Amino acid sequence: MEEVGTGLLDRLDAMQRVAASAPGGPLLIVAGPGTGKTRSLTHRIAYLCAELGVYPEQCLAITFTRRAAEELRHRLDDLLGEVAGDVTVATFHGLGLSIVREHAPSFNLSPDFRIAEETDRLAAIIESGCFSNTAPTEREARRQLTAGVPREFRDAYRKALRSRDMVDLDELITLPVELLTESPDLVDEYRAEYRWIFVDEYQDVDPVQYELLRLLCPPDGNLTAIGDPDQAIYSFRGADVGFFLRFTTDFTDARQVRLTRNYRSAAPILAAAVQAIAPSSLVPGRRLDPAKLDPEAPQVGLYEAASAEDEAVFVSKTIDELVGGVTHRTVDSRAVTPDAVSFADIAVLYRTDAQASFVVDALSRHGVPVQKRSHDRLLDRPGVAAIARELRFASGLGGSLAARIKLTAQVLTERPALDVVVSPEDLWSAVDLLGPLALRCGDDLGTFLTALETGAEVDAWDPRADRVTLLTLHAAKGLEFPIVFLIGCEDGLLPLRRPGSPLTADEEAEERRLFFVGLTRAQDRLYVSHARKRFRHGAEREMAVTPFLSVIDPGLFERKGPEAPRRPKDRQLRLI
Ligand code: ATP
Ligand code: MG
Repeated sequence: MEEVGTGLLDRLDAMQRVAASAPGGPLLIVAGPGTGKTRSLTHRIAYLCAELGVYPEQCLAITFTRRAAEELRHRLDDLLGEVAGDVTVATFHGLGLSIVREHAPSFNLSPDFRIAEETDRLAAIIESGCFSNTAPTEREARRQLTAGVPREFRDAYRKALRSRDMVDLDELITLPVELLTESPDLVDEYRAEYRWIFVDEYQDVDPVQYELLRLLCPPDGNLTAIGDPDQAIYSFRGADVGFFLRFTTDFTDARQVRLTRNYRSAAPILAAAVQAIAPSSLVPGRRLDPAKLDPEAPQVGLYEAASAEDEAVFVSKTIDELVGGVTHRTVDSRAVTPDAVSFADIAVLYRTDAQASFVVDALSRHGVPVQKRSHDRLLDRPGVAAIARELRFASGLGGSLAARIKLTAQVLTERPALDVVVSPEDLWSAVDLLGPLALRCGDDLGTFLTALETGAEVDAWDPRADRVTLLTLHAAKGLEFPIVFLIGCEDGLLPLRRPGSPLTADEEAEERRLFFVGLTRAQDRLYVSHARKRFRHGAEREMAVTPFLSVIDPGLFERKGPEAPRRPKDRQLRLI
Protein backbone atom coordinates (compact mmCIF):
# COMPACT_ATOMS: atom_id res chain seq x y z
CA MET A 1 0.00 0.00 0.00
CA GLU A 2 1.22 3.47 -0.86
CA GLU A 3 1.91 5.79 2.05
CA VAL A 4 -1.31 7.66 2.70
CA GLY A 5 -1.04 11.37 3.41
CA THR A 6 1.53 13.81 2.17
CA GLY A 7 2.99 11.52 -0.48
CA LEU A 8 -0.30 10.60 -2.03
CA LEU A 9 -0.12 13.05 -4.93
CA ASP A 10 3.64 12.74 -5.45
CA ARG A 11 3.22 10.43 -8.39
CA LEU A 12 1.15 12.99 -10.30
CA ASP A 13 2.32 15.90 -12.41
CA ALA A 14 1.27 19.47 -11.59
CA MET A 15 -1.98 19.48 -13.60
CA GLN A 16 -2.94 15.98 -12.52
CA ARG A 17 -2.47 17.18 -8.94
CA VAL A 18 -4.80 20.13 -9.58
CA ALA A 19 -7.39 17.67 -10.91
CA ALA A 20 -6.96 15.21 -8.04
CA SER A 21 -7.10 17.80 -5.27
CA ALA A 22 -9.83 20.09 -6.65
CA PRO A 23 -12.50 20.95 -4.05
CA GLY A 24 -16.08 19.67 -4.17
CA GLY A 25 -18.67 20.71 -6.73
CA PRO A 26 -18.92 19.71 -10.39
CA LEU A 27 -15.54 19.06 -11.99
CA LEU A 28 -14.80 18.18 -15.61
CA ILE A 29 -11.44 16.69 -16.47
CA VAL A 30 -10.91 17.00 -20.23
CA ALA A 31 -7.87 15.24 -21.49
CA GLY A 32 -6.53 13.24 -24.38
CA PRO A 33 -5.49 9.60 -24.39
CA GLY A 34 -2.65 8.52 -22.11
CA THR A 35 -2.64 11.73 -20.08
CA GLY A 36 -3.40 9.91 -16.85
CA LYS A 37 -7.14 10.54 -16.58
CA THR A 38 -7.84 7.22 -14.94
CA ARG A 39 -4.75 7.66 -12.77
CA SER A 40 -5.92 11.13 -11.68
CA LEU A 41 -9.39 9.78 -10.92
CA THR A 42 -8.13 7.10 -8.54
CA HIS A 43 -5.79 9.55 -6.85
CA ARG A 44 -8.61 12.04 -6.49
CA ILE A 45 -10.80 9.53 -4.68
CA ALA A 46 -7.88 8.47 -2.48
CA TYR A 47 -6.93 12.07 -1.71
CA LEU A 48 -10.47 13.11 -0.81
CA CYS A 49 -10.83 10.17 1.56
CA ALA A 50 -7.36 10.26 3.10
CA GLU A 51 -6.83 14.02 3.27
CA LEU A 52 -10.16 15.81 3.22
CA GLY A 53 -12.15 13.49 5.45
CA VAL A 54 -14.61 12.36 2.79
CA TYR A 55 -16.22 9.05 3.83
CA PRO A 56 -15.27 6.28 1.36
CA GLU A 57 -18.78 4.82 1.63
CA GLN A 58 -20.15 8.09 0.23
CA CYS A 59 -18.06 7.71 -2.93
CA LEU A 60 -19.49 6.12 -6.06
CA ALA A 61 -17.19 5.57 -9.06
CA ILE A 62 -18.91 4.62 -12.30
CA THR A 63 -17.33 3.05 -15.38
CA PHE A 64 -18.70 1.49 -18.55
CA THR A 65 -17.15 -1.94 -18.40
CA ARG A 66 -16.60 -4.42 -15.64
CA ARG A 67 -12.97 -4.66 -16.68
CA ALA A 68 -12.53 -0.92 -16.11
CA ALA A 69 -14.32 -1.19 -12.76
CA GLU A 70 -11.97 -3.98 -11.67
CA GLU A 71 -8.96 -1.92 -12.70
CA LEU A 72 -10.24 1.06 -10.70
CA ARG A 73 -10.89 -1.12 -7.69
CA HIS A 74 -7.40 -2.60 -7.94
CA ARG A 75 -5.72 0.82 -8.16
CA LEU A 76 -7.80 2.12 -5.22
CA ASP A 77 -6.78 -0.87 -3.12
CA ASP A 78 -3.15 0.04 -3.79
CA LEU A 79 -3.68 3.64 -2.78
CA LEU A 80 -6.05 3.32 0.15
CA GLY A 81 -5.64 -0.20 1.46
CA GLU A 82 -8.58 -1.75 3.29
CA VAL A 83 -10.63 1.46 3.28
CA ALA A 84 -10.92 1.20 -0.51
CA GLY A 85 -13.44 -1.61 -0.01
CA ASP A 86 -15.96 0.96 1.24
CA VAL A 87 -15.90 2.90 -2.04
CA THR A 88 -18.63 1.72 -4.43
CA VAL A 89 -17.16 0.98 -7.85
CA ALA A 90 -19.74 -0.06 -10.41
CA THR A 91 -20.60 -0.12 -14.06
CA PHE A 92 -23.75 1.76 -15.05
CA HIS A 93 -25.47 -1.60 -15.44
CA GLY A 94 -24.14 -2.87 -12.10
CA LEU A 95 -25.39 0.26 -10.36
CA GLY A 96 -28.80 -0.07 -12.04
CA LEU A 97 -28.96 -3.73 -11.06
CA SER A 98 -28.36 -2.92 -7.41
CA ILE A 99 -31.13 -0.29 -7.46
CA VAL A 100 -33.56 -2.70 -9.17
CA ARG A 101 -32.61 -5.42 -6.62
CA GLU A 102 -33.19 -3.10 -3.72
CA HIS A 103 -36.65 -2.25 -5.00
CA ALA A 104 -37.56 -5.53 -6.73
CA PRO A 105 -41.17 -5.66 -5.42
CA SER A 106 -41.88 -2.20 -6.88
CA PHE A 107 -41.16 -3.68 -10.31
CA ASN A 108 -43.18 -6.88 -9.72
CA LEU A 109 -40.01 -8.88 -9.44
CA SER A 110 -39.03 -11.52 -6.92
CA PRO A 111 -35.67 -11.20 -5.12
CA ASP A 112 -34.33 -13.91 -7.48
CA PHE A 113 -35.25 -12.16 -10.74
CA ARG A 114 -33.00 -12.72 -13.74
CA ILE A 115 -31.70 -10.71 -16.64
CA ALA A 116 -33.23 -11.86 -19.90
CA GLU A 117 -31.09 -13.56 -22.49
CA GLU A 118 -31.82 -12.88 -26.11
CA THR A 119 -33.98 -16.00 -26.45
CA ASP A 120 -36.08 -14.82 -23.49
CA ARG A 121 -36.44 -11.41 -25.07
CA LEU A 122 -37.53 -12.98 -28.34
CA ALA A 123 -40.11 -15.08 -26.55
CA ALA A 124 -41.39 -12.01 -24.66
CA ILE A 125 -41.58 -9.96 -27.82
CA ILE A 126 -43.59 -12.65 -29.57
CA GLU A 127 -45.88 -13.10 -26.57
CA SER A 128 -46.50 -9.38 -26.43
CA GLY A 129 -48.67 -9.75 -29.53
CA CYS A 130 -46.92 -7.24 -31.69
CA PHE A 131 -47.05 -9.78 -34.49
CA SER A 132 -50.64 -10.85 -34.00
CA ASN A 133 -51.43 -11.30 -37.69
CA THR A 134 -48.54 -13.39 -38.84
CA ALA A 135 -45.97 -15.49 -37.10
CA PRO A 136 -42.83 -13.34 -36.97
CA THR A 137 -39.63 -14.48 -38.47
CA GLU A 138 -36.79 -14.46 -35.99
CA ARG A 139 -35.15 -11.74 -38.03
CA GLU A 140 -38.23 -9.57 -37.85
CA ALA A 141 -38.46 -10.06 -34.09
CA ARG A 142 -34.82 -9.10 -33.69
CA ARG A 143 -35.38 -5.96 -35.72
CA GLN A 144 -38.24 -5.05 -33.41
CA LEU A 145 -36.04 -5.66 -30.40
CA THR A 146 -33.57 -3.05 -31.47
CA ALA A 147 -36.00 -0.53 -32.96
CA GLY A 148 -37.90 1.94 -30.82
CA VAL A 149 -41.40 0.50 -30.25
CA PRO A 150 -44.81 2.05 -29.50
CA ARG A 151 -45.72 2.39 -25.83
CA GLU A 152 -48.53 -0.22 -25.81
CA PHE A 153 -46.20 -2.73 -27.32
CA ARG A 154 -43.42 -1.88 -24.87
CA ASP A 155 -45.82 -2.32 -21.94
CA ALA A 156 -46.94 -5.72 -23.22
CA TYR A 157 -43.33 -6.76 -23.76
CA ARG A 158 -42.46 -5.71 -20.22
CA LYS A 159 -45.43 -7.62 -18.83
CA ALA A 160 -44.27 -10.72 -20.68
CA LEU A 161 -40.79 -10.33 -19.19
CA ARG A 162 -42.17 -9.81 -15.68
CA SER A 163 -44.27 -12.96 -15.95
CA ARG A 164 -40.91 -14.74 -16.38
CA ASP A 165 -39.47 -12.80 -13.42
CA MET A 166 -37.02 -11.07 -15.76
CA VAL A 167 -35.78 -7.64 -16.78
CA ASP A 168 -33.79 -6.89 -19.90
CA LEU A 169 -30.41 -5.22 -19.92
CA ASP A 170 -31.71 -1.78 -20.97
CA GLU A 171 -34.23 -1.83 -18.15
CA LEU A 172 -31.41 -1.96 -15.62
CA ILE A 173 -31.05 1.76 -16.32
CA THR A 174 -34.57 2.76 -17.43
CA LEU A 175 -36.34 1.21 -14.41
CA PRO A 176 -34.25 3.09 -11.80
CA VAL A 177 -34.76 6.30 -13.79
CA GLU A 178 -38.54 5.77 -13.82
CA LEU A 179 -38.58 4.87 -10.13
CA LEU A 180 -36.51 7.85 -9.04
CA THR A 181 -38.42 10.25 -11.27
CA GLU A 182 -41.60 9.29 -9.43
CA SER A 183 -40.12 9.26 -5.91
CA PRO A 184 -38.40 12.48 -4.78
CA ASP A 185 -37.85 10.94 -1.31
CA LEU A 186 -35.86 8.14 -2.81
CA VAL A 187 -33.82 10.66 -4.79
CA ASP A 188 -32.95 12.38 -1.53
CA GLU A 189 -31.97 9.07 0.03
CA TYR A 190 -29.61 8.15 -2.80
CA ARG A 191 -28.13 11.64 -2.89
CA ALA A 192 -27.40 11.41 0.82
CA GLU A 193 -25.86 7.96 0.33
CA TYR A 194 -23.58 8.90 -2.58
CA ARG A 195 -22.39 12.43 -1.94
CA TRP A 196 -19.42 12.05 -4.28
CA ILE A 197 -19.81 10.63 -7.77
CA PHE A 198 -17.04 10.02 -10.31
CA VAL A 199 -17.56 8.93 -13.92
CA ASP A 200 -14.73 7.77 -16.19
CA GLU A 201 -15.14 7.91 -20.02
CA TYR A 202 -17.96 10.44 -19.63
CA GLN A 203 -17.92 11.13 -23.39
CA ASP A 204 -19.79 7.84 -23.90
CA VAL A 205 -22.76 8.56 -21.62
CA ASP A 206 -26.14 7.93 -23.25
CA PRO A 207 -29.34 9.89 -22.53
CA VAL A 208 -30.77 7.39 -20.01
CA GLN A 209 -27.48 7.05 -18.13
CA TYR A 210 -27.30 10.83 -18.10
CA GLU A 211 -30.81 11.03 -16.64
CA LEU A 212 -29.83 8.58 -13.93
CA LEU A 213 -26.79 10.70 -13.11
CA ARG A 214 -28.92 13.86 -12.96
CA LEU A 215 -31.23 12.12 -10.51
CA LEU A 216 -28.37 10.86 -8.34
CA CYS A 217 -26.48 14.14 -8.37
CA PRO A 218 -27.86 17.68 -7.94
CA PRO A 219 -26.65 20.35 -10.41
CA ASP A 220 -24.19 21.69 -7.84
CA GLY A 221 -23.23 18.24 -6.54
CA ASN A 222 -19.82 16.66 -6.19
CA LEU A 223 -19.67 15.11 -9.63
CA THR A 224 -16.31 14.49 -11.24
CA ALA A 225 -16.63 13.65 -14.93
CA ILE A 226 -13.56 12.53 -16.84
CA GLY A 227 -13.16 11.90 -20.51
CA ASP A 228 -12.10 12.84 -23.99
CA PRO A 229 -14.68 13.93 -26.59
CA ASP A 230 -12.24 12.81 -29.30
CA GLN A 231 -12.62 9.25 -28.05
CA ALA A 232 -16.43 9.20 -28.23
CA ILE A 233 -17.07 5.98 -30.15
CA TYR A 234 -20.36 4.58 -28.91
CA SER A 235 -22.96 6.72 -30.66
CA PHE A 236 -24.21 3.59 -32.46
CA ARG A 237 -25.43 2.45 -29.04
CA GLY A 238 -27.04 5.77 -28.27
CA ALA A 239 -24.13 7.52 -26.53
CA ASP A 240 -24.13 11.27 -27.03
CA VAL A 241 -20.92 13.27 -26.73
CA GLY A 242 -23.15 16.34 -26.38
CA PHE A 243 -23.50 15.62 -22.65
CA PHE A 244 -19.76 15.99 -22.24
CA LEU A 245 -19.66 19.17 -24.28
CA ARG A 246 -22.57 20.61 -22.25
CA PHE A 247 -21.20 19.69 -18.82
CA THR A 248 -20.29 23.21 -17.77
CA THR A 249 -23.77 24.52 -18.59
CA ASP A 250 -25.61 21.51 -17.10
CA PHE A 251 -23.81 21.69 -13.78
CA THR A 252 -23.51 24.84 -11.71
CA ASP A 253 -20.15 26.61 -11.46
CA ALA A 254 -18.38 23.59 -12.90
CA ARG A 255 -14.61 23.69 -12.82
CA GLN A 256 -12.60 22.41 -15.74
CA VAL A 257 -9.11 20.94 -15.71
CA ARG A 258 -7.15 19.96 -18.79
CA LEU A 259 -4.33 17.45 -18.91
CA THR A 260 -2.06 17.66 -21.92
CA ARG A 261 0.99 15.57 -21.14
CA ASN A 262 0.86 12.10 -22.68
CA TYR A 263 2.75 9.45 -20.72
CA ARG A 264 1.80 6.51 -22.90
CA SER A 265 3.08 6.78 -26.43
CA ALA A 266 6.44 7.29 -28.06
CA ALA A 267 6.65 10.69 -29.80
CA PRO A 268 6.23 9.49 -33.43
CA ILE A 269 3.09 7.53 -32.48
CA LEU A 270 1.61 10.49 -30.66
CA ALA A 271 2.45 12.88 -33.51
CA ALA A 272 0.70 10.58 -35.99
CA ALA A 273 -2.36 10.27 -33.74
CA VAL A 274 -2.68 14.01 -33.17
CA GLN A 275 -2.50 14.66 -36.92
CA ALA A 276 -5.05 11.90 -37.55
CA ILE A 277 -7.71 13.37 -35.27
CA ALA A 278 -7.15 17.02 -36.23
CA PRO A 279 -9.81 17.21 -39.01
CA SER A 280 -12.57 16.07 -36.59
CA SER A 281 -11.30 17.12 -33.18
CA LEU A 282 -14.06 18.20 -30.80
CA VAL A 283 -11.56 19.78 -28.42
CA PRO A 284 -10.70 23.33 -29.46
CA GLY A 285 -6.95 23.83 -29.25
CA ARG A 286 -6.31 20.14 -28.58
CA ARG A 287 -2.79 19.64 -27.21
CA LEU A 288 -0.92 16.47 -26.43
CA ASP A 289 2.73 16.78 -25.48
CA PRO A 290 4.81 13.63 -25.39
CA ALA A 291 6.44 12.80 -22.05
CA LYS A 292 8.41 10.06 -23.83
CA LEU A 293 11.12 11.73 -25.85
CA ASP A 294 13.44 8.86 -26.72
CA PRO A 295 15.21 10.00 -29.94
CA GLU A 296 15.69 6.32 -30.84
CA ALA A 297 11.94 5.65 -30.85
CA PRO A 298 11.00 3.87 -34.08
CA GLN A 299 8.71 5.44 -36.67
CA VAL A 300 5.24 4.04 -37.18
CA GLY A 301 5.51 0.85 -39.27
CA LEU A 302 3.36 0.90 -42.42
CA TYR A 303 2.65 -2.24 -44.41
CA GLU A 304 0.77 -2.48 -47.69
CA ALA A 305 -0.39 -6.08 -48.03
CA ALA A 306 -1.41 -7.77 -51.27
CA SER A 307 -4.41 -9.35 -49.53
CA ALA A 308 -5.97 -9.89 -46.12
CA GLU A 309 -4.13 -13.24 -45.88
CA ASP A 310 -0.85 -11.53 -46.68
CA GLU A 311 -1.58 -8.92 -44.00
CA ALA A 312 -2.14 -11.69 -41.45
CA VAL A 313 1.16 -13.30 -42.44
CA PHE A 314 2.91 -9.95 -41.97
CA VAL A 315 1.44 -9.63 -38.45
CA SER A 316 2.39 -13.14 -37.42
CA LYS A 317 5.91 -12.95 -38.90
CA THR A 318 6.56 -9.62 -37.21
CA ILE A 319 5.30 -10.97 -33.88
CA ASP A 320 7.51 -14.01 -34.34
CA GLU A 321 10.53 -11.74 -34.90
CA LEU A 322 9.65 -9.49 -31.97
CA VAL A 323 9.13 -12.29 -29.50
CA GLY A 324 11.98 -14.39 -30.88
CA GLY A 325 14.29 -13.06 -28.21
CA VAL A 326 12.11 -13.80 -25.21
CA THR A 327 14.42 -14.06 -22.22
CA HIS A 328 13.35 -12.82 -18.86
CA ARG A 329 10.02 -11.15 -18.30
CA THR A 330 7.55 -10.88 -15.52
CA VAL A 331 3.98 -11.07 -16.61
CA ASP A 332 2.89 -7.81 -15.09
CA SER A 333 5.83 -5.67 -16.09
CA ARG A 334 4.90 -4.34 -19.48
CA ALA A 335 7.91 -2.18 -20.33
CA VAL A 336 9.63 -3.33 -23.49
CA THR A 337 13.35 -3.75 -23.27
CA PRO A 338 15.16 -4.41 -26.53
CA ASP A 339 15.62 -8.10 -25.84
CA ALA A 340 12.40 -9.01 -24.10
CA VAL A 341 8.96 -8.93 -25.64
CA SER A 342 6.22 -11.25 -24.48
CA PHE A 343 2.93 -12.13 -26.14
CA ALA A 344 1.07 -10.17 -23.45
CA ASP A 345 2.76 -6.99 -24.72
CA ILE A 346 1.12 -7.26 -28.11
CA ALA A 347 -2.34 -6.35 -29.37
CA VAL A 348 -3.88 -6.62 -32.82
CA LEU A 349 -6.75 -4.19 -33.32
CA TYR A 350 -9.36 -4.13 -36.07
CA ARG A 351 -12.65 -2.49 -36.97
CA THR A 352 -14.81 -5.60 -37.39
CA ASP A 353 -14.65 -8.97 -35.67
CA ALA A 354 -14.65 -10.74 -39.05
CA GLN A 355 -11.12 -9.46 -39.73
CA ALA A 356 -9.67 -11.48 -36.89
CA SER A 357 -9.99 -14.94 -38.43
CA PHE A 358 -7.02 -14.67 -40.85
CA VAL A 359 -4.83 -13.36 -38.04
CA VAL A 360 -5.95 -16.10 -35.63
CA ASP A 361 -5.14 -18.72 -38.31
CA ALA A 362 -1.75 -17.25 -39.13
CA LEU A 363 -0.78 -16.88 -35.46
CA SER A 364 -1.94 -20.41 -34.67
CA ARG A 365 0.26 -21.74 -37.47
CA HIS A 366 3.18 -20.04 -35.71
CA GLY A 367 2.12 -21.51 -32.37
CA VAL A 368 1.32 -18.06 -30.96
CA PRO A 369 -1.34 -18.13 -28.18
CA VAL A 370 -4.12 -15.56 -28.58
CA GLN A 371 -7.13 -14.20 -26.73
CA LYS A 372 -9.76 -12.57 -28.88
CA ARG A 373 -12.36 -10.20 -27.47
CA SER A 374 -15.04 -8.01 -28.97
CA HIS A 375 -17.33 -5.44 -27.40
CA ASP A 376 -20.38 -7.67 -27.95
CA ARG A 377 -22.40 -9.01 -25.04
CA LEU A 378 -20.92 -12.09 -23.40
CA LEU A 379 -24.27 -13.87 -23.49
CA ASP A 380 -24.42 -13.50 -27.27
CA ARG A 381 -21.28 -15.57 -27.70
CA PRO A 382 -22.19 -19.14 -28.65
CA GLY A 383 -22.01 -21.54 -25.73
CA VAL A 384 -21.96 -18.94 -22.98
CA ALA A 385 -25.73 -18.79 -22.40
CA ALA A 386 -25.90 -22.66 -22.45
CA ILE A 387 -23.22 -22.91 -19.78
CA ALA A 388 -24.75 -20.11 -17.67
CA ARG A 389 -28.13 -21.82 -17.73
CA GLU A 390 -26.78 -25.17 -16.61
CA LEU A 391 -24.73 -23.54 -13.85
CA ARG A 392 -27.82 -21.77 -12.57
CA PHE A 393 -29.79 -25.04 -12.49
CA ALA A 394 -27.01 -26.86 -10.70
CA SER A 395 -26.16 -24.03 -8.32
CA GLY A 396 -25.93 -26.39 -5.33
CA LEU A 397 -22.92 -28.29 -6.70
CA GLY A 398 -19.58 -27.99 -4.94
CA GLY A 399 -16.12 -27.49 -6.42
CA SER A 400 -14.40 -24.48 -7.85
CA LEU A 401 -16.35 -22.44 -10.37
CA ALA A 402 -13.76 -23.08 -13.09
CA ALA A 403 -14.09 -26.84 -12.52
CA ARG A 404 -17.89 -26.62 -12.64
CA ILE A 405 -17.74 -24.67 -15.90
CA LYS A 406 -15.55 -27.38 -17.45
CA LEU A 407 -17.80 -30.12 -16.15
CA THR A 408 -20.87 -28.37 -17.54
CA ALA A 409 -19.26 -28.08 -20.98
CA GLN A 410 -18.30 -31.76 -20.79
CA VAL A 411 -21.86 -32.78 -19.92
CA LEU A 412 -23.31 -30.57 -22.65
CA THR A 413 -20.92 -32.08 -25.19
CA GLU A 414 -21.97 -35.60 -24.27
CA ARG A 415 -25.66 -34.91 -23.69
CA PRO A 416 -26.67 -31.71 -25.48
CA ALA A 417 -29.78 -30.08 -24.04
CA LEU A 418 -32.68 -30.55 -26.44
CA ASP A 419 -33.27 -26.90 -27.13
CA VAL A 420 -29.64 -25.79 -27.15
CA VAL A 421 -27.66 -26.27 -30.31
CA VAL A 422 -24.04 -25.45 -29.62
CA SER A 423 -21.07 -27.11 -31.26
CA PRO A 424 -18.34 -28.68 -29.02
CA GLU A 425 -15.81 -26.39 -30.66
CA ASP A 426 -17.96 -23.26 -29.41
CA LEU A 427 -18.46 -24.81 -25.94
CA TRP A 428 -14.76 -25.20 -25.29
CA SER A 429 -13.95 -21.73 -26.51
CA ALA A 430 -16.62 -20.49 -24.08
CA VAL A 431 -14.84 -22.43 -21.31
CA ASP A 432 -11.57 -20.67 -22.22
CA LEU A 433 -13.37 -17.36 -22.11
CA LEU A 434 -15.15 -17.94 -18.80
CA GLY A 435 -12.38 -19.57 -16.75
CA PRO A 436 -10.38 -16.40 -15.98
CA LEU A 437 -13.58 -14.42 -15.41
CA ALA A 438 -14.73 -16.99 -12.83
CA LEU A 439 -11.43 -16.61 -10.99
CA ARG A 440 -11.74 -12.84 -10.95
CA CYS A 441 -15.26 -13.16 -9.54
CA GLY A 442 -13.73 -14.80 -6.47
CA ASP A 443 -15.37 -18.13 -7.33
CA ASP A 444 -18.76 -16.70 -6.38
CA LEU A 445 -21.55 -18.04 -8.59
CA GLY A 446 -23.88 -15.06 -8.07
CA THR A 447 -21.21 -12.50 -8.95
CA PHE A 448 -20.14 -14.60 -11.91
CA LEU A 449 -23.66 -14.95 -13.32
CA THR A 450 -24.23 -11.20 -12.95
CA ALA A 451 -20.96 -10.57 -14.78
CA LEU A 452 -22.14 -12.87 -17.57
CA GLU A 453 -25.56 -11.28 -17.78
CA THR A 454 -24.40 -7.68 -17.84
CA GLY A 455 -20.91 -7.94 -19.31
CA ALA A 456 -19.26 -7.70 -22.69
CA GLU A 457 -16.70 -10.13 -24.11
CA VAL A 458 -13.91 -7.68 -23.33
CA ASP A 459 -14.76 -8.01 -19.62
CA ALA A 460 -13.37 -11.52 -19.84
CA TRP A 461 -10.06 -10.23 -21.20
CA ASP A 462 -7.19 -11.36 -19.03
CA PRO A 463 -4.33 -8.81 -19.02
CA ARG A 464 -2.02 -11.24 -17.27
CA ALA A 465 -2.33 -14.11 -19.72
CA ASP A 466 0.76 -14.52 -21.87
CA ARG A 467 -1.19 -14.35 -25.09
CA VAL A 468 -1.44 -11.92 -27.97
CA THR A 469 -4.63 -9.89 -27.53
CA LEU A 470 -6.98 -9.49 -30.51
CA LEU A 471 -9.55 -6.75 -30.01
CA THR A 472 -12.11 -4.74 -31.89
CA LEU A 473 -11.30 -1.04 -31.71
CA HIS A 474 -14.36 -0.50 -29.53
CA ALA A 475 -13.18 -3.09 -27.03
CA ALA A 476 -9.67 -1.55 -26.91
CA LYS A 477 -10.84 1.71 -25.35
CA GLY A 478 -8.94 2.68 -22.19
CA LEU A 479 -6.29 -0.03 -22.67
CA GLU A 480 -2.62 0.26 -23.59
CA PHE A 481 -0.05 -2.15 -25.01
CA PRO A 482 3.68 -1.79 -25.71
CA ILE A 483 3.17 -3.07 -29.26
CA VAL A 484 0.06 -2.51 -31.36
CA PHE A 485 -0.92 -3.64 -34.87
CA LEU A 486 -3.83 -1.72 -36.36
CA ILE A 487 -4.93 -3.77 -39.35
CA GLY A 488 -7.39 -3.19 -42.17
CA CYS A 489 -6.76 0.54 -42.60
CA GLU A 490 -8.81 0.63 -45.79
CA ASP A 491 -11.47 2.89 -47.20
CA GLY A 492 -14.78 1.15 -46.55
CA LEU A 493 -13.48 -0.79 -43.57
CA LEU A 494 -12.04 2.04 -41.46
CA PRO A 495 -14.12 4.15 -42.07
CA LEU A 496 -16.61 1.29 -42.19
CA ARG A 497 -19.16 1.76 -44.95
CA ARG A 498 -21.48 -0.37 -47.03
CA PRO A 499 -20.81 -0.12 -50.75
CA GLY A 500 -22.95 2.59 -52.27
CA SER A 501 -24.03 4.15 -48.96
CA PRO A 502 -21.92 7.18 -48.12
CA LEU A 503 -21.39 8.15 -44.49
CA THR A 504 -22.81 11.30 -42.96
CA ALA A 505 -20.24 13.80 -41.69
CA ASP A 506 -20.99 12.72 -38.09
CA GLU A 507 -20.55 9.04 -38.92
CA GLU A 508 -17.28 9.71 -40.65
CA ALA A 509 -16.05 11.75 -37.67
CA GLU A 510 -16.86 8.88 -35.32
CA GLU A 511 -14.91 6.47 -37.55
CA ARG A 512 -11.97 8.85 -37.40
CA ARG A 513 -12.23 8.91 -33.61
CA LEU A 514 -12.11 5.11 -33.63
CA PHE A 515 -8.95 5.30 -35.71
CA PHE A 516 -7.55 7.77 -33.15
CA VAL A 517 -8.44 5.43 -30.27
CA GLY A 518 -6.61 2.62 -32.09
CA LEU A 519 -3.42 4.59 -32.74
CA THR A 520 -3.26 5.85 -29.17
CA ARG A 521 -3.34 2.40 -27.56
CA ALA A 522 0.33 1.93 -28.51
CA GLN A 523 3.14 2.67 -26.10
CA ASP A 524 6.38 1.87 -27.90
CA ARG A 525 5.67 0.43 -31.34
CA LEU A 526 2.80 0.83 -33.71
CA TYR A 527 2.25 -0.92 -37.04
CA VAL A 528 -0.58 0.08 -39.34
CA SER A 529 -1.45 -2.05 -42.32
CA HIS A 530 -3.88 -2.23 -45.21
CA ALA A 531 -4.63 -4.83 -47.85
CA ARG A 532 -5.13 -4.19 -51.56
CA LYS A 533 -7.68 -6.98 -51.80
CA ARG A 534 -10.19 -8.29 -49.29
CA PHE A 535 -13.26 -10.49 -49.31
CA ARG A 536 -16.20 -8.28 -48.37
CA HIS A 537 -19.95 -8.34 -48.93
CA GLY A 538 -19.77 -11.67 -50.73
CA ALA A 539 -16.97 -10.92 -53.17
CA GLU A 540 -13.29 -10.25 -53.33
CA ARG A 541 -12.86 -6.50 -53.68
CA GLU A 542 -10.09 -4.09 -54.51
CA MET A 543 -9.50 -1.94 -51.45
CA ALA A 544 -8.00 1.55 -51.35
CA VAL A 545 -5.99 2.75 -48.40
CA THR A 546 -8.02 4.72 -45.82
CA PRO A 547 -8.14 8.48 -46.33
CA PHE A 548 -7.43 8.78 -42.59
CA LEU A 549 -3.77 7.97 -43.25
CA SER A 550 -3.34 10.70 -45.82
CA VAL A 551 -3.45 13.53 -43.27
CA ILE A 552 -0.45 12.09 -41.42
CA ASP A 553 3.03 13.32 -42.34
CA PRO A 554 4.62 10.51 -44.42
CA GLY A 555 7.89 11.20 -42.57
CA LEU A 556 6.39 9.58 -39.48
CA PHE A 557 6.10 6.22 -41.23
CA GLU A 558 8.61 3.56 -42.03
CA ARG A 559 7.48 1.22 -44.80
CA LYS A 560 7.61 -2.45 -43.90
CA GLY A 561 7.65 -5.48 -46.14
CA PRO A 562 9.84 -7.12 -48.78
CA GLU A 563 9.49 -4.43 -51.41
CA ALA A 564 10.06 -1.57 -48.98
CA PRO A 565 12.89 0.69 -50.10
CA ARG A 566 15.51 0.85 -47.36
CA ARG A 567 16.19 4.39 -46.33
CA PRO A 568 18.03 5.74 -43.32
CA LYS A 569 15.68 6.42 -40.44
CA ASP A 570 14.95 10.05 -39.87
CA ARG A 571 15.73 10.49 -36.21
CA GLN A 572 14.55 14.08 -36.16
CA LEU A 573 11.41 13.85 -34.04
CA ARG A 574 8.58 16.15 -34.88
CA LEU A 575 7.35 17.52 -31.63
CA ILE A 576 3.80 18.60 -31.36
P1 ATP B 1 -7.24 6.81 -22.05
O1 ATP B 1 -7.82 8.08 -22.63
O2 ATP B 1 -6.68 5.95 -23.11
O3 ATP B 1 -8.22 6.11 -21.14
P2 ATP B 1 -5.92 7.90 -19.69
O4 ATP B 1 -5.88 9.38 -19.84
O5 ATP B 1 -6.97 7.36 -18.80
O6 ATP B 1 -5.98 7.24 -21.14
P3 ATP B 1 -4.07 6.44 -18.04
O7 ATP B 1 -4.44 5.07 -18.50
O8 ATP B 1 -4.52 6.90 -16.70
O9 ATP B 1 -4.48 7.47 -19.18
O10 ATP B 1 -2.49 6.64 -18.11
C1 ATP B 1 -1.76 6.28 -19.28
C2 ATP B 1 -0.39 5.74 -18.90
O11 ATP B 1 0.44 6.81 -18.44
C3 ATP B 1 -0.43 4.73 -17.78
O12 ATP B 1 0.54 3.74 -18.03
C4 ATP B 1 -0.08 5.55 -16.56
O13 ATP B 1 0.49 4.76 -15.54
C5 ATP B 1 0.94 6.53 -17.13
N1 ATP B 1 0.98 7.80 -16.37
C6 ATP B 1 -0.03 8.66 -16.17
N2 ATP B 1 0.37 9.71 -15.42
C7 ATP B 1 1.68 9.53 -15.15
C8 ATP B 1 2.66 10.27 -14.41
N3 ATP B 1 2.37 11.42 -13.82
N4 ATP B 1 3.92 9.76 -14.37
C9 ATP B 1 4.22 8.59 -14.98
N5 ATP B 1 3.34 7.84 -15.68
C10 ATP B 1 2.08 8.30 -15.78
MG1 MG C 1 -8.56 5.97 -19.13
